[in-house]
Amino acid sequence: MIDIAANLDVVRQRIATAAANAGRNPADVTLIAVSKTKPLALVEAALAAGQISFGENYAQELQEKSQQQAADWHFIGPLQSNKTKLIANQAQWVHSIDRLKIAQRLSDQRSAELPPLNVCIQVNISDEPQKAGVPVNEVAELAAQIKRRPNVVLRGLMCIPKPDDAGAFERMRDLFEQLNEGGCQLDCLSMGMSSDFEAAIAAGATHVRVGTAIFGSRK
Ligand SMILES: *Cc1c(COP(=O)(O)O)cnc(C)c1O
Repeated sequence: MIDIAANLDVVRQRIATAAANAGRNPADVTLIAVSKTKPLALVEAALAAGQISFGENYAQELQEKSQQQAADWHFIGPLQSNKTKLIANQAQWVHSIDRLKIAQRLSDQRSAELPPLNVCIQVNISDEPQKAGVPVNEVAELAAQIKRRPNVVLRGLMCIPKPDDAGAFERMRDLFEQLNEGGCQLDCLSMGMSSDFEAAIAAGATHVRVGTAIFGSRK
């Protein structure tokens, strides 16, 4: 049996060390445990070990898990417009907004009785063809449009850089700072996975999305 509590301890310690090395407060880095494809029992083991936030990639899977278990649910995968309604009232966060239509549908489908859905724009920071995310030079315009939707609130930026793109996290931080200087009030920089979250924290990540290091490899 995989020891989720022990794995979480190791990841939390690595986050604390990376934050300390960067002169940052570890409390300013939120760990999102990416539970995609993993059974609910492992989510429950993580919850029992004090984990609060969970990440899912598939709309249906987030819907099913969130109906069975209350937690802070973050949708982080590619989102087709015909799947938005599965998560609009189930997720607390959507990190993977890559076009206005998705934000608009989420805002329309989100119950006005719930707090607004927290959203991030996914940035194609390594400028890869056919890759998810908005080109860097279109982010400010999309941010301005998202801000006009009532039931979503733009919290920040997310990326999955190309593995060999050494400066990607720093470019994300620069973009994040530029947007805030331009009047956006962003407080979420969602970057870093099992293999690179320390580098992301060094560059200013506020949310790291870690799956394998907590739940083991996926088939
Ligand atoms: C799967 C996934 C993760 C977690 O990846 P690991 O390498 O298992 O830590 C993080 N972010 C996104 C968008 C993912 O799809």
